[in-house]
Amino acid sequence: MTAASVSAPPHGATLRIAERFGPTLQGEGPSAGQPALFIRLSGCNLSCSWCDTPYTWDARRFNLRDQRERVPVADLVAWALDHPVPLIVITGGEPLMQQRHLPALAGPLLQAGRRLEIETNGTVTPDPALLVDGLHFNVSPKLDNANVPHKRRIKPAALEALSASGQAVFKFVACNLADLDEIAELVERFAMTQVWVMPEGVTADHVLGRAHLLAEAVIARGWSLSLRLHVLLWGDERGR
Ligand code: SF4
Repeated sequence: MTAASVSAPPHGATLRIAERFGPTLQGEGPSAGQPALFIRLSGCNLSCSWCDTPYTWDARRFNLRDQRERVPVADLVAWALDHPVPLIVITGGEPLMQQRHLPALAGPLLQAGRRLEIETNGTVTPDPALLVDGLHFNVSPKLDNANVPHKRRIKPAALEALSASGQAVFKFVACNLADLDEIAELVERFAMTQVWVMPEGVTADHVLGRAHLLAEAVIARGWSLSLRLHVLLWGDERGR
């Protein structure tokens, strides 16, 4: 399917967002270092212990009504097109929880020549309407280190669909060398071809320390290593 075939926005479509910001840099994965705009959707179906965006979902720690707003998709399109930035990252939370209205956002942006990356935890099967040229998925299946039960964080049908789409890269958050064995099992089971390992951490010291710990073993397995550029530059400052 091509960008031109993405359906027109349904009249009145809205998305629940936590924030939008940029231009900044994509900090993670294959596009790290490239200028990007971010639209962060609110809500998540997981509860990772080290989550760096708990204000998108954790009602025990945040008054979520203060942390989110419902925005017309047309306003988000206009905001994004107002910036001459080629890459737009749709992140969360878990953005595919609101995927019913994502084609309405993606269509006009793709038609205007922008590239899109949707960052997902890999638990939701993507709508075929999102499998279009110019749109990629940065899929981050969660490992045991997230302290979420396996049944909730690994959804085989969703991972199979994302892997088969040919539009997904898989980016695993790792804390230690043992995590790499767990990644290898998932890579084999779901035939994942583009694999990135990213150290967990919201300080430069943690990210770099874990990167040093993981780097040689990641190279030996033929995978790629992602740092967290925004963390190295700005720590866990919000809106970066
Ligand atoms: S999937 Fe992402 S947003 Fe959701 S709890 Fe885990 S780290 Fe946070």
